[in-house]
Amino acid sequence: MEHENINTFKSLVNNVGRFNLSNKTVLFPEMNRIGCNLLAATFRGFDINAMVMETHKGIDLGLEYSSGKECYPCQVTLGDILYFLKKEMERMGNDFNPDDYIYFMPEADGPCRFGMYNKYQRIVLDSFPQLENLKIGSLSTEDGYSLHGIVAEDVVADLRKVTYFSIIVADILDRLLWRIRPYERQRGMADEFIEKAMRNMADAFETRGPKRDFKGILKRLEEAIKEGKMIMDPNIPPKPLIGIVGEIYLRSHVHSNQDLIKTLERYGAEVVNASIAEWVNYITYSKLKEAKSKFMLNIKQFRPDRIIRYLKDIARFSSELFYQEWRQKQVYRFAKTLIDIPNDHKVAHLEEILREEDLFSFDVGTEACLSISGILQYAREGYNGVVNVYPFTCMPSTATSAVIGPVMNGLGVPYLDTPYDSSIQPYREAAIRTFMYQAHQHMERNGRKRHGFA
Ligand code: SF4
Repeated sequence: MEHENINTFKSLVNNVGRFNLSNKTVLFPEMNRIGCNLLAATFRGFDINAMVMETHKGIDLGLEYSSGKECYPCQVTLGDILYFLKKEMERMGNDFNPDDYIYFMPEADGPCRFGMYNKYQRIVLDSFPQLENLKIGSLSTEDGYSLHGIVAEDVVADLRKVTYFSIIVADILDRLLWRIRPYERQRGMADEFIEKAMRNMADAFETRGPKRDFKGILKRLEEAIKEGKMIMDPNIPPKPLIGIVGEIYLRSHVHSNQDLIKTLERYGAEVVNASIAEWVNYITYSKLKEAKSKFMLNIKQFRPDRIIRYLKDIARFSSELFYQEWRQKQVYRFAKTLIDIPNDHKVAHLEEILREEDLFSFDVGTEACLSISGILQYAREGYNGVVNVYPFTCMPSTATSAVIGPVMNGLGVPYLDTPYDSSIQPYREAAIRTFMYQAHQHMERNGRKRHGFA
């Protein structure tokens, strides 16, 4: 691919934003493998040609076209899209048309750098004249990841509901994997099983999603859980329970975190990672909080038009949050009749913990709100250790580390920070090994939490 220096930024406005997805190939970068594949399958069910790009194979391209100051997930995803396009151009030759694709890169409205990924990646794409017309589709936390404007209005509500359902089911499949893999009868069985289960569930979402056949999807989930349970060897005694928090991409993308969960398992852990739904619920929760505070402010200032506007926002985000939490509870209750996996955290409860401990405030925003409170919740529940995983220089995670380190020392619960970039650092594995030694000791002294059935 040839590239040139660019001298205009107009494409940040014209080529990044909300675009109609019909008749386009929608390209999702892979973050959490199961979740992204179920999401793409859900979109396909609604006649949107969506696919998940191969990941991490283009990391050299990502590093070549960035300066090193960007957040690591920005470099990895940049590599994914450049690698995909390079291969696609080789495959299609003269038939390649950048107009046929929409690369999907959501954003957040601050205060950290996630809002800049798609702008930065736009600038890089624009430096290749043959890629100028490739659009970057973006949803934002600003409007709670609204789907309006990207699909036909009559399917927005259904697509949103099924998409959220796919996020919950993917979280459950992840939890199933982390529950069974440390106790598998033969090495490799759990990984092999989960790939098959993921493909099966993707098929269920593609065929049953558009009909909103949630019962049919749950039936497939039930089959998967029953099959997965058979992999566990009941003679293996319980292992120390480790909770993971941190930056959403790094903790979910196994290539970027150098397969942290498996490394912990190698040293004798059973691991629970923070879920993806927790982040989605947190966004809705924050938008509701914001709407409430703006509503109160405008009542004080007596601005009737704004009062009505924020009242509508309150109604919208309240009903979305209610639906999400109700649905999440329903699916977890169903799964927990079959296997003892942990429940997810409720966002309002996490905020309560922060208030009680007076350590941080939801008003600051970012993932630090979830990580600090999530760590404390793990400690309260009797986990034997907690790991905070994040990209090197990540702002919210560095704040988390600064706030929580002394607290965990005081509580006597093993705690480990694991920052990652593209480098392999030998001391990291030594740190994990030492941390797991402490976690084993913690379990000997205090026992460990059992997840329990519904
Ligand atoms: S959360 Fe961390 S890694 Fe993600 S954009 Fe913000 S600073 Fe970067």
